[in-house]
Amino acid sequence: MNRNEDPHHPPVKRLRLVLGDQLNQAHHWYQETDANVVYLIAELKQEAVYVKHHVQKVCAFFAAMAQFAKWLEDQGHEVHYLTLDESARYQDLPALLTASIAQHGAQGFEYQRPDEYRLREQLSDFCTQLEIPSQESDTEHFLLPFEALGQYFEPNKHVRMESFYRKMRVRCRVLVENNEPLGGRWNFDAENREALKPDDLKDIPAPLCFENDISDILDRLSRHEITTIGRSSRACLWPINREQSLALLDYFCQNQLPLFGRFQDAMTCHSEHQWSLYHSRLSFAMNAKILSPAEVIDAALDTYHEANGAIGLAQIEGFVRQILGWREYVRGMYWANMPDYASQNTLQAGATLPDWFWTGETRMRCLNEAITQSLDYAYAHHIQRLMITGNFALLAGIDPAQVDAWYLGIYIDAIEWVELPNTRSMALFADGGWIATKPYAASGNYVNKMSDYCKSCEYSVKDKTGDDACPLNSLYWHFIDRNAHRLKGNPRTAFPMKNWEKQSDENRQAIRAKAEQVIDNLNVL
Ligand code: FAD
Ligand code: SF4
Repeated sequence: MNRNEDPHHPPVKRLRLVLGDQLNQAHHWYQETDANVVYLIAELKQEAVYVKHHVQKVCAFFAAMAQFAKWLEDQGHEVHYLTLDESARYQDLPALLTASIAQHGAQGFEYQRPDEYRLREQLSDFCTQLEIPSQESDTEHFLLPFEALGQYFEPNKHVRMESFYRKMRVRCRVLVENNEPLGGRWNFDAENREALKPDDLKDIPAPLCFENDISDILDRLSRHEITTIGRSSRACLWPINREQSLALLDYFCQNQLPLFGRFQDAMTCHSEHQWSLYHSRLSFAMNAKILSPAEVIDAALDTYHEANGAIGLAQIEGFVRQILGWREYVRGMYWANMPDYASQNTLQAGATLPDWFWTGETRMRCLNEAITQSLDYAYAHHIQRLMITGNFALLAGIDPAQVDAWYLGIYIDAIEWVELPNTRSMALFADGGWIATKPYAASGNYVNKMSDYCKSCEYSVKDKTGDDACPLNSLYWHFIDRNAHRLKGNPRTAFPMKNWEKQSDENRQAIRAKAEQVIDNLNVL
């Protein structure tokens, strides 16, 4: 018998808060209607301005929240939905909650555990001041329960993603037989690093986009003077409800999964039809919890099995690794290391983010492509984020706080629990090695190998010095040189360090001078 049916405890009205990234229809809250529960869903100014977001990101979240509220109402639940016009009267979330609790005469307050440290702190502080009982529930989204994170992750400690991932494969019984990997290998990364050849380009499936009308939301953003970045359009191309998210998942399984792994690291000058290659673009639907990671993995596994060998094991393993491995792993690292994570800066990087990160206006073709695409679609795929924008920020020694703010704002899927470990650790090595065993630093060579960017670049990828030399080349060696004392003793960086030391003094001097000139002129590259 629940408390509301108990004659000794008369029913009490409860307010339940649903945040914008908690749109999980399968949550136990919604399985039965309860006349004593009211759900609060609100477009919040504090969430729209805590960092400068991409306009498509704010619109996609607000549109998805409205769809979720409508679904709740259709199921018979009572919903109190506030647009910015109504919620902007309150200074912040606690002020809104206080008013809503009073308005509904609520005698209890419930919320789902926020995935962001900032919001969790805010809500738990609010609850300590509250005079009515409050309760935090799980979001019932991730594959690894929150309570189990401590078994896998420890603060301030390196945890190998590969070991975690193998444990998750066994724990969730994915692609394993008798606790051993299907096909005899856990990892197919070596097969999954192909660049696209000109012939491959014509086969790339066009991304599936939606046309959700967001005119009203755009008007509200402008009415409330919310500053955003990126290209805006009256239609949101991202999935904002279950139906669209499932359609995107199906589209991925049918069209992109067969070559997902093979071209996972490839990059190409984008065109209208090729900006997401074989990537799924499911991160927004998953991070908003419209889709669960379990159902995404299951759908991909079903497709793989039904294909009867037509989809290679390396392709499905590559995809499963991203979700069962990386996604769960970065969440574990985030919670193990917050709040200290957000101030890590082991390499003592402090340069200012160049202005062209906000416009894409640079002559470096690789950065121009990755940034313009990000501004156009609020999306870049993993290797563009890691090895183009991330690599540049690492080599140029940009202040991690500024890099974090850029990533947190610009991408459709950016929520701190997943953005921060990827940026601070993977891209910037600012944690000194909690995640990566070496910095992911690369010269123009890597970009040239994995993309067609260099072919149409004003800079010459072959040169390290000289006016036309690719800036990444001198920056790369400068990075090795200036961090030699930190990287000494790391076997994974021994090779480039030896190469640097082997060069003549004259060469090294010329490269240093060129890099310093680049660093002094970051804004005009
Ligand atoms: P796919 O390539 O189709 O991969 C499938 C799914 O795997 C993704 O949807 C995502 O849920 C998961 N995934 C893949 N790689 C990672 C990873 N490294 N960490 C966590 N999940 C992963 N991802 C975000 O969701 N939000 C972010 O804010 C974010 N910021 C990033 C910042 C940097 C500097 C880097 C290097 C990576 C970042 N990523 C982030 C991880 C990754 O780039 C995106 O998840 C991915 O590009 C989303 O596109 P997709 O859905 O097409 O992914
Ligand atoms: Fe980028 Fe250098 Fe290639 Fe130009 S030459 S696209 S700057 S790697």
